[in-house]
This record gives sequence, C-alpha cells and structure tokens, in this order.
Amino acid sequence: MSIFARIIEGSLPAEKVFEDEHCIVINDIHPQAPVHVLVIPKKAMTNLNDATLADQTLLGHLMLVVPKVAAQLGMADGYRVIINNGAAAGQTVFHLHLHVLGGRRYSEQHLGR
Ligand code: AMP
Repeated sequence: MSIFARIIEGSLPAEKVFEDEHCIVINDIHPQAPVHVLVIPKKAMTNLNDATLADQTLLGHLMLVVPKVAAQLGMADGYRVIINNGAAAGQTVFHLHLHVLGGRRYSEQHLGR
C-alpha cells in the first residue's frame, strides 16, 4: 500500500487542506515552494498510464479541484500544476497525484525552474 493510500485510509497523518468524495489535498512534507500541495485521488492508480476511459470524470474532477484549492490558499493569480509521471520523470510515490506549487513568482518561462 502506498503512503498516499495510508493517508487516505487515515492510518498515516497528513495536513489535509481539502477533501471531498473523490480526492484529498494535503501539504507536501518537503515543500518546493511557499505553498506546495498534492491533489490525490482516493481511487488508487499508479499514474496516468493506469488511467482508462472510466477515469475520465475523476481526472477532470481533480483538475477542477486545483483552482478551488489554489483560491483557498491565496494563489488564484498563478501557480504551477505538475505530474511526475513514472520513475524516469521523478515519480517517487506510485499513487497518482498532482503537485500544485505557488506563493512565489515564477519569472522563468522554462519548465522545471
Ligand atoms: P513524486 O516525486 O511526484 O512522486 O512526489 C511525491 C511527493 O510526495 C514528494 O514531493 C514528497 O515530498 C511527498 N510526500 C512523501 N511522503 C509524504 C507524506 N507522508 N506527506 C506529505 N507528502 C509526502
């Protein structure tokens, strides 16, 4: 069972900033920005490679939770949304999650800065 599955079931504590029927949003334990949260579906899937047409609504839902939480956390003016999809892309927890980073200016146009 992944770390995130344990957080979802409640056996591992986390700082939850939002929860609904389909997902939780928690503060990242090693923040890479002043605000760094993770949007995590309650349904366990390794990453996007695992998703099927049946997950279409869920994936859309996660994307719609992002601006809602961003506004709640005071970063409606801009933030980054990142998915590290697969080990080669830096994924370390193999339960799909969206990183939402903000609270500072990203002046560079390049990804990864
Ligand atoms: P990724 O490398 O894309 O798989 O991202 C995994 C993220 O989960 C990293 O940014 C970690 O800092 C974060 N993380 C790992 N364990 C925990 C935890 N127990 N609570 C909150 N965030 C965590």
